[in-house]
Amino acid sequence: MHVNEYDVIVVGAGPAGGMAALTAARLGLRTVLVEEHPEVGSPTHCSGKLQLHAFREFNLPDHLVLNTLQAGAFYAPNGAVARVRRSTPDSHVVDRAVFDRWLAYGAQSAGAELLLETRLRGAERLNGAMRVAGERTGKTFSGSAPVIIDAEGARPVLPATLGVTLPRRLVYGLQYQMSDVDLEAVDCPEIYLGSAVSPGFFAWLMPIGPRRARVGVCVDQFLSGRAPIHYLDRVMREHPVASRRLKHARIERKLAGPIPVLGARRPTVIQNMLLVGDTAGQVKATSGGGIYFSLIAGQLAAQAAANYIGGNTEALRDYEGGWRRRFGRELSVTAFARATLNRMTDEELNGLISAIGTNDSVRAAVETHGDTAYQSRLIFPLLRQSLHPSRFAVMSGAMFKALRFGLRALWDDGAHLARHDGNRASGFGTRKGEDSDQREPIGRSGGLTP
Ligand SMILES: Cc1cc2nc3c(=O)[nH]c(=O)nc-3n(C[C@H](O)[C@H](O)[C@H](O)COP(=O)(O)OP(=O)(O)OC[C@H]3O[C@@H](n4cnc5c(N)ncnc54)[C@H](O)[C@@H]3O)c2cc1C
Repeated sequence: MHVNEYDVIVVGAGPAGGMAALTAARLGLRTVLVEEHPEVGSPTHCSGKLQLHAFREFNLPDHLVLNTLQAGAFYAPNGAVARVRRSTPDSHVVDRAVFDRWLAYGAQSAGAELLLETRLRGAERLNGAMRVAGERTGKTFSGSAPVIIDAEGARPVLPATLGVTLPRRLVYGLQYQMSDVDLEAVDCPEIYLGSAVSPGFFAWLMPIGPRRARVGVCVDQFLSGRAPIHYLDRVMREHPVASRRLKHARIERKLAGPIPVLGARRPTVIQNMLLVGDTAGQVKATSGGGIYFSLIAGQLAAQAAANYIGGNTEALRDYEGGWRRRFGRELSVTAFARATLNRMTDEELNGLISAIGTNDSVRAAVETHGDTAYQSRLIFPLLRQSLHPSRFAVMSGAMFKALRFGLRALWDDGAHLARHDGNRASGFGTRKGEDSDQREPIGRSGGLTP
């Protein structure tokens, strides 16, 4: 008879894995949280913008907050700007290292075991249980449990060893954390758009406190031949607004990593392994934001594991329906918007930004209905504004592209746009040494190493 060492093995101590382990341990499961790095939360790649929804829903403490955001400024390629300000704050900015550690140590306090410097390379089903294997501090490691929660992040290896490939379209992000930044307002992130600024995504300036900001770009490898560093350097030197803000700024640290913005999000249940967070592609394709949905998915996966271990044999399969009901619509709608935005010309972007920036009723619609966690809430109000005869001419190009390119992405979350992912991945990304999330190639042949 096979004896499981654990009830659940959680792979990866980011937000998805940390929340899964915390929830599983609180529910009384024998839980292990496995992390490949010697420290949780490091290296960091993320800007750390996290909506207030998450703070309320998960009762997150104030000491995690670096800054609070209530406004936004969107710069068009021609320099036109749309400024929006909500009546209440939308998001906080967190320090991801502190945030991830808070979750992992919370899981430990609730009874989970935390294994650092343990890198898993494969999973298999053995005698009715799930077994994982890899290395721990240079030696072979294996463990078994009825359920695995896979929270490996944007480039998972375990699903392939169970025979499932997940086509993903990654954008590559690079950002500098900077001091002595001449911010316009500490609660207002700035977004810079345009084909010369950041093809297939955007550049940003995210204030993290007085005179401090994270300044970055994300680039879609299918829409650009150049690495993110090329665009980031250019934004910092030449962008009329960003270069002014950064004139006296100094780089404190570099952060980089990929984001799985589009791609197959099915399956998220493979045998008795549940995929959560970036591994499951649970990221908004418009903004690349994934922390909030990772937390929700981590919690749902742990609850499903507990129900399964409690005797409900359908519980694991129900996980997929559960997360789709909570935020599946957001992934579809943001895939729709991303597919549309990627096809818009700079002139069309100029028209869109000016319509928001110069028209009171369009801006009011954004300020009232805009919610960076639930972006689909803005779709119908914006559509209504676009159909107004005075704006129809300027918005018609965008609407045509939404119908032509966005609808299919709405249907399949952008999976068809990821079909050829991987072809151009090597040699792209950020420069070696700057990509803090750079990983060695791992054999994907299946089977376990030890
Ligand atoms: C430049 C950039 C900026 C971003 N900014 C934001 C933002 O402002 N707001 C937002 O919401 N989202 C942002 N994101 C996205 C956000 O970082 C991710 O959505 C989020 O980190 C997903 O959490 P996760 O737990 O799924 O994965 P991760 O945070 O990537 O965690 C995965 C963990 O698993 C570990 N691991 C991986 N493989 C193995 C293995 N085989 N064995 C053991 N351990 C393993 C890794 O070391 C890592 O600790 C940004 C991303 C990038 C790249």
